[in-house]
Amino acid sequence: MSDMSMLINGLKVTAERGATFERRNPLDGTIASRAPAASPADAVMAVEAAAEAFKTWSQTGPGERRALLLKAADALEAKTPQFIEAVAAETGAAGSWAGFNVFLAAGMIREAAALTTQVCGEVIPSDIPGSLAMSVRQPAGVVLGIAPWNAPVILGTRAICVPLACGNTVVMKGSENCPRTHQLIIEAFQDAGFPPGVVNYITNAPADAGAVVEAMVAHSAVRRVNFTGSTRVGRLIAMTCAKYLKPVVLELGGKAPMVVLDDADIDDAVNGAAFGAFANSGQICMSTERIIVDHKIADAFVKKFADKAKALPLGDPRKPEPVVLGSVIGMSTVEHCNALIDDALAKGAKLVCGEKATTTLMPATILDHVTPAMKIYHEETFGPVKCIVRVNGVEEAVACANDNEYGLSAAVFGGDIARAFNVARRIDSGICHVNGPTVHDEAQMPFGGVKGSGLGRFGGKAGIHEFTELRWVTLQTTPRHYPF
Ligand code: NAD
Repeated sequence: MSDMSMLINGLKVTAERGATFERRNPLDGTIASRAPAASPADAVMAVEAAAEAFKTWSQTGPGERRALLLKAADALEAKTPQFIEAVAAETGAAGSWAGFNVFLAAGMIREAAALTTQVCGEVIPSDIPGSLAMSVRQPAGVVLGIAPWNAPVILGTRAICVPLACGNTVVMKGSENCPRTHQLIIEAFQDAGFPPGVVNYITNAPADAGAVVEAMVAHSAVRRVNFTGSTRVGRLIAMTCAKYLKPVVLELGGKAPMVVLDDADIDDAVNGAAFGAFANSGQICMSTERIIVDHKIADAFVKKFADKAKALPLGDPRKPEPVVLGSVIGMSTVEHCNALIDDALAKGAKLVCGEKATTTLMPATILDHVTPAMKIYHEETFGPVKCIVRVNGVEEAVACANDNEYGLSAAVFGGDIARAFNVARRIDSGICHVNGPTVHDEAQMPFGGVKGSGLGRFGGKAGIHEFTELRWVTLQTTPRHYPF
């Protein structure tokens, strides 16, 4: 069990009056970590430290920021064994998932390092004689990053690395479900030698999240907010940001459709579906949640998909045998998925593999013949319970793919690439892959959703756009003519 601290102005601190909260392992209830339970006053101290550090950090050159970010990427990778242990203890996820998280997060920091020289503006022709007019990108100020537990290293890192690369200082609010995992990210930045106050970290008890977040959003030094999490909480944060007029990037829930057209390579589609549906037990925002299969090939697809799903190893990730499916985050996921299974079966769906779970070790479960009358057709399961919807032809497939409140990731499998591409173009989502799985993230890509999946984009130059202020600056080089 880890006893933890927060980081404010380069110092390891406890919360006001020493308040703490516990995170327990989802499988056996043992205490995984005990973390400071910040008060709104603690959170404001973190913002003020970041505001002070901004005065010098925002003036650093790109080379200095790049060098520190590259060191942080190495420091993060050096902590891989600690991450694997902390992720398993706090979230129950498999070691392979934790390892992949560190790999991609280190890549994100290196990509952010490369972006330091890409914070560019332009010269714009002016109609005023002698006026040199420019658009200039500048660091915005203090950025508040709020990250979830499900891809903890990737999403915690993503919340801060591009903001830092752009010359902002940051306060990261860790997830109540994995405070130690998120702290390890912050330690990597500290090991790299970031100056005090540039990177700050706070943790809060679950009941205090609303008050702690609002105290920071309200602070005048906080100029950008980013939040990755559920659509329900995203709406609350959007309302808080609206109240204080703070721009916010929201990366929210998903119900990714994977369309399997009648000319798809079935083995290829099965492999894409199994990976997209069951990686991290389906607890990924891009998880394949609805598999929309053409009637003509549905029987063959479902049989092979079920055979593959049944063979996926499931177990306690802390044991030596490698698993694909570890524990889910808690019994609320089990209860939510069981209710969706009951509802679907009562309305005529067919269970082709898996079953209702009684513990957080949930088997890969597939329901066939799912219809819009069933809750699972519409709602995010965020667990290893997936549905198959059978359709007739391209038009029905596109209509089904778009018949959802979310729009984050999607996929289309088909042999005729041009036809599959044209289907992809008609799907309402921020991301779509032809003949590739719905779960796919790379640091340099514009990542984000439409509809209920959120606003704004992380990744690559899109991230620079989100975390800088675009200003118009002119230089009058000759005497200016005035009308009076
Ligand atoms: P969550 O929304 O329950 O919690 C996330 C964070 O919100 C926590 O840090 C929590 O402290 C904070 N929070 C909770 N109540 C709050 C309040 N009233 N005011 C302010 N902050 C509050 O999400 P979760 O269950 O941890 O994560 C799972 C969800 O995240 C899924 O819906 C998933 O699809 C989504 N997600 C999206 C992406 C993406 O990039 N689009 C990535 C991963 C996860």
